[in-house]
Amino acid sequence: MKNITRPTETINDILDIFLNDRPRQQTVSEIDSNRTALIALENQYITKTQDNTLYEISRGIPASITLTEESLIRYYEYRMLERDNGRNFYDKLLISVPYNTCPYCTIKNVTTIDHFLPKSKYPFLSVTPTNLVPSCRDCNTDKKVSYPTNRDNQTFHPYFDIVDNEPWIIAELLRAEPLSFHFKVQRIPTWDDNKYSRSLTHFDAYKINELFSSEANNELRGRRLFFKRHIQRNRTELIDHLNETYQSYLDSFGLLDWRTVMYHCLINDDWFLDGCAGNNYFN
Ligand SMILES: [Zn+2]
Repeated sequence: MKNITRPTETINDILDIFLNDRPRQQTVSEIDSNRTALIALENQYITKTQDNTLYEISRGIPASITLTEESLIRYYEYRMLERDNGRNFYDKLLISVPYNTCPYCTIKNVTTIDHFLPKSKYPFLSVTPTNLVPSCRDCNTDKKVSYPTNRDNQTFHPYFDIVDNEPWIIAELLRAEPLSFHFKVQRIPTWDDNKYSRSLTHFDAYKINELFSSEANNELRGRRLFFKRHIQRNRTELIDHLNETYQSYLDSFGLLDWRTVMYHCLINDDWFLDGCAGNNYFN
């Protein structure tokens, strides 16, 4: 999970953008009569991200809104995706993420916009900027938890949760043939139970072990000759090489990148550094 900067636009700005696309008079009236309620719902959303209570937001159409579910979803699918000014906002949001990397999985490229709380359940948030998160297609469509139902099954929110500064994802080298990695959540001592539960939910929902271990296993395979050359000279040379690689990834990609986590694991695995006795990796 990578924290990213949230859009500077508010729902108020988005409604103005829709008005700039010259909608019919009926839509203008609709927007005018729902503006205050949509702003209040955006404020509620932001407040609830602060104390981890997004799950308390009611699904469906709130009493304060006079628009139907269909028309709210159409605000996204038509006014944001199909109209000039709406589309400009969407496209700008899509390319706003550093290095185009999906903030949920930190592996794949951003190709779409995810509704953090899905528009099918929360139509009144379908065009609220803080609910729109650039993501890869898999994280958008495959995520296992579609909406939170309690305090613990809320995934981390890339705009509001800062969790990429602590090593809560770790790797373990499985002594199998061929050698492979398994990634898992490590509880950070200063975290409360809720944050720990949310880290497990996020890790599971975005299939982090599956994604990270696939990349890391390929890296391990591809680096084999290189590592072997170092270890044949001596153990210290291999450690120095692994340390340098680790520092370089840490510096460029941060603590939670699969490469940083993978090399941290190798540096701390004496069995690996001693030559993987009983395993063919260095043979
Ligand atoms: Zn992703």
